[in-house]
Amino acid sequence: MATATKTFKNFIGGEWVDAGSGETFETTSPATGEVLGVFPKSSAEDVDRAVAAAKAAYEEWRLVPAPRRGEILFRFGALLAEHKDEVADLMAREMGKVLPEAAGDVQEAIDMSYYMGGEGRRLFGQTTPSELRDKFNMSVRQPIGVVGVITPWNFPIAIPSWKIAPALVCGNTIVFKPATDTPLLGERFVELLVEAGVPGGVVNIVHGGGGEVGNRLVQHPDVPVITLTGSRETGVAVLQSAAENLKHVHLELGGKNAIIVLDDADLELAVEGILWSAFGTSGQRCTAASRVIVQQGVYDELQKRLVGAAEKLRLGPGWEDGVDVGPVINKRALEKIHSYTEIGVGEGAKLLTGGEVASGNGLGDGSFYRPTIFGDVDPQMRVAQEEIFGPTTALIPVKDVDEAIRVSNGIEFGLSSSIFTRDVNTAFRAMRDLEAGITYINAGTIGAEVHLPFGGTKGTGNGHREAGQAALDVFTEWKSIYVDYSGKLQRAQIDTEL
Ligand code: NAD
Repeated sequence: MATATKTFKNFIGGEWVDAGSGETFETTSPATGEVLGVFPKSSAEDVDRAVAAAKAAYEEWRLVPAPRRGEILFRFGALLAEHKDEVADLMAREMGKVLPEAAGDVQEAIDMSYYMGGEGRRLFGQTTPSELRDKFNMSVRQPIGVVGVITPWNFPIAIPSWKIAPALVCGNTIVFKPATDTPLLGERFVELLVEAGVPGGVVNIVHGGGGEVGNRLVQHPDVPVITLTGSRETGVAVLQSAAENLKHVHLELGGKNAIIVLDDADLELAVEGILWSAFGTSGQRCTAASRVIVQQGVYDELQKRLVGAAEKLRLGPGWEDGVDVGPVINKRALEKIHSYTEIGVGEGAKLLTGGEVASGNGLGDGSFYRPTIFGDVDPQMRVAQEEIFGPTTALIPVKDVDEAIRVSNGIEFGLSSSIFTRDVNTAFRAMRDLEAGITYINAGTIGAEVHLPFGGTKGTGNGHREAGQAALDVFTEWKSIYVDYSGKLQRAQIDTEL
């Protein structure tokens, strides 16, 4: 492989530089254990340098006309499209997802870049009437400053694009800290942005752990906005740590998403939707279906078909043809996923298939886990309540739609939800009553498109949304402007005569 053991750098103020300490860490392939690259293990001082560069660059970048900023994003989208196969292959190697899904991850970033590129000619505000004569009112979006972008490893190209594309088009500058499991993809992302024409200092990347690099970004007084996608625990810690400086904090956190299958559902379609949502990306999506809530009348049949289909899924390295399920991200994840199998068995759930680390058959030193299905799960069991983030799903029998919705809502998270039914009235009820940021009708829990808001309710976040127009609210401040051209003092709420 061309990238093997190559040493990479941070990108600060338009230059590729080592960490001040000279320390490094390695990125490895979860499919083989092979070392793919060596990265700077940065410290607070490296973050400080990057923030200073981003702060200096902001003074000029905020004045670049928004359509020009958008054009850079169009070029970035085109470059991603040109390099799609290469980046997808890199993703299959560094993060582990299978090639078609890796290509989908890159496509999402292409879509987001084009969508936000177009915002360069919109970024709409409002003009309104005034309550006084000869006075003009309007509101405009203004950039905020340096944005700290902290991302997870599971969508290593798409998620950075959800944050960096809107932040840039709005006129902010960036310090980006990718996850330590996928630094190679973070670095490729930035290389292509630079090739697209982003000026020096506007986008900076600092590699390293959450405790050092992430935490310094969150606490740095010159970083007014933090956008983080990660686990609930990390989100809460970041929110607390950012409180002192009253930062804008945008959080996209975990999920425990459910698919409801009612007696009148198209079962074949439901099984396909469940397989894709539960075992795609080896279950490592925030929107993965880790619960399937099934009405009694179809429970046995659905269980039989689902277990049969799951047992046919082929495990292997993501870049190989015909592989359905790639590895999980690392050995730590493998242990966590297996611990939940033991928890489920201990709680009395019925292990229907999987439940073990997969090895042999060319799986080598990789971190593979067999697609795992629990049956007869009680909604209060830990396997039905906690985010496992692996290829494990729990079948929960219910008697009717009321119970199904209650169970679906009975968790701390509120990201994605889904229902399979042929009854239009039931579908509309579910759209209204499912407590989640996203609801799918007759489709699984995954499949978001970039022009609609993305995010969740309850423990999944803090009320913001990624993507669509909603993303602009994270990366801009509203300014209301009143222009009085009457030539005299007019007092709002006081000079009320016609
Ligand atoms: P994680 O919380 O361990 O890490 C996420 C990022 O935060 C990493 O870059 C990490 O280095 C950094 N970080 C960790 N501690 C920090 C701290 N104290 N201060 C600042 N930064 C810190 O999550 P992960 O394991 O990389 O990703 C999996 C999690 O992400 C799952 O819970 C999943 O549901 C969630 N996720 C959510 C969405 C969504 O949009 N809602 C999308 C994808 C993943």
